[in-house]
Amino acid sequence: MARWDEILTLPVQNPPTLEFSAADIMWSRVEGWRDSMDRLALIPFSRVNDFVRGESNNKECPTRFHVEARRRRPPTMSCKPKVDGILEYILYWCSFGPDDYRKGGSVRPSRNYSDKRRKTPAGRPQTKRGCICHFIVKRLIAEPSVALVIYNHNKHVDKKGKPCHGPMDKMAIGTKAMFAPYISDELRLQVMSLLCVGIPVETIMQRHTEMVEKQGGPSNRDDLLTHRYVRRLERKIRRSVYELHDDDDVSINIWVENHQDYIFLYEDFSDTDTFVVGIQTDWQLQQMIQYGNRSLLASDSKFGTNKLKYPVHSLLVFDKQKNAIPVAWIVTPNFAHGETYRWMGALYDRVRAKDPTWQLGGFIIDDPLTDVRTIREVFQCPVLISLWRIRHAWHKNLMNKCPDIEKRPVMAKRLGEVICNICRGNGGMELFVAFLEDFIGCAGFLDYFRALWFPRLGWSMSFSFITHI
Ligand SMILES: [Zn+2]
Repeated sequence: MARWDEILTLPVQNPPTLEFSAADIMWSRVEGWRDSMDRLALIPFSRVNDFVRGESNNKECPTRFHVEARRRRPPTMSCKPKVDGILEYILYWCSFGPDDYRKGGSVRPSRNYSDKRRKTPAGRPQTKRGCICHFIVKRLIAEPSVALVIYNHNKHVDKKGKPCHGPMDKMAIGTKAMFAPYISDELRLQVMSLLCVGIPVETIMQRHTEMVEKQGGPSNRDDLLTHRYVRRLERKIRRSVYELHDDDDVSINIWVENHQDYIFLYEDFSDTDTFVVGIQTDWQLQQMIQYGNRSLLASDSKFGTNKLKYPVHSLLVFDKQKNAIPVAWIVTPNFAHGETYRWMGALYDRVRAKDPTWQLGGFIIDDPLTDVRTIREVFQCPVLISLWRIRHAWHKNLMNKCPDIEKRPVMAKRLGEVICNICRGNGGMELFVAFLEDFIGCAGFLDYFRALWFPRLGWSMSFSFITHI
């Protein structure tokens, strides 16, 4: 069989775990260049990052893989229709290589900084130990949703075939090369959030050093957090600017271009539609898969409605301790029906691409105007309404629309009782009808209640209320 026929008929492997490594995949051997045999496999392109993470968290030899080379075919370039045409080529290399800065090691001439042409060499030459472990990812024109992974060197060894980092390397014992280079994403995010709330670099480092001393010295990569690194993060945060251009349109475009990995949907202003930006980091996607599966997803549509130019719609999941974790943000000037469908479908597809078995248990909304039908259609799950939000909205409107100060608490109490009774199964819509009749004098609030809530309370009750969200 011809090489490409053989490759394109391989199964696309999609392990159900959040991240996976080479050990979780069946590798095929296909004849490559110069009679060598390539180890290769097909995985969904959307899961390349999960594979890179899984390979980095190798238990026997923790490391990190960086992009050593990347080529993309410009979208405008016309291409001859050929079977092995590629849209993208990415070479991932273990961050302990490919150069070798150890004594007697070889360094590519382009990376040799001994002539002091540059003051600071790019990357971290001191961590390079000549590791040859690397793999290639190709995105084929024939199957753009699939990544072809070619893994020729899967052992963390140097050119001589000896372990050059990690616990198997005798020379690395007691040094940083025992552990993966760079700190973990978790610690980086933690440090970033401490800096964002204004904790000084010195305090963060002091606490960190105390903690490491207490446990008797460094025992993993995160213990090796340096002052310099924290200071660099702090500088990055201080210098970051979110208004990248006076024109919002251009500003959003630049931001989206620089944060491609976090964007699950972007539609620019058009003649008929406003813009929609859906933001979700890889970490957020993982949380959504882990805590949203057969569980709840809550929508908070009220953030920034008074303060920000464009409101931010957040989606939340809840961990075992019931902490709310934001798992996606949607920014758009208004949340009319069309917009909801646009971002919800894209988000659902993104999650299902990672985990085809993922299924939501329920979707909690906080706004009676939410497009319930779209949610049901996309997520195929019951929709619930946050009782706390309903009562909050009613309270606010009683204050605004009912001039009779003495009546306000009576009405609020009555509405509370109605909800309680309905939740306990002691009644239905007739309780609201009675409420409307009893307080007929308060026209302002009743008009609001009748217009906004009454038509929706029927469905609210059919899918139950939720308290304390
Ligand atoms: Zn390595």
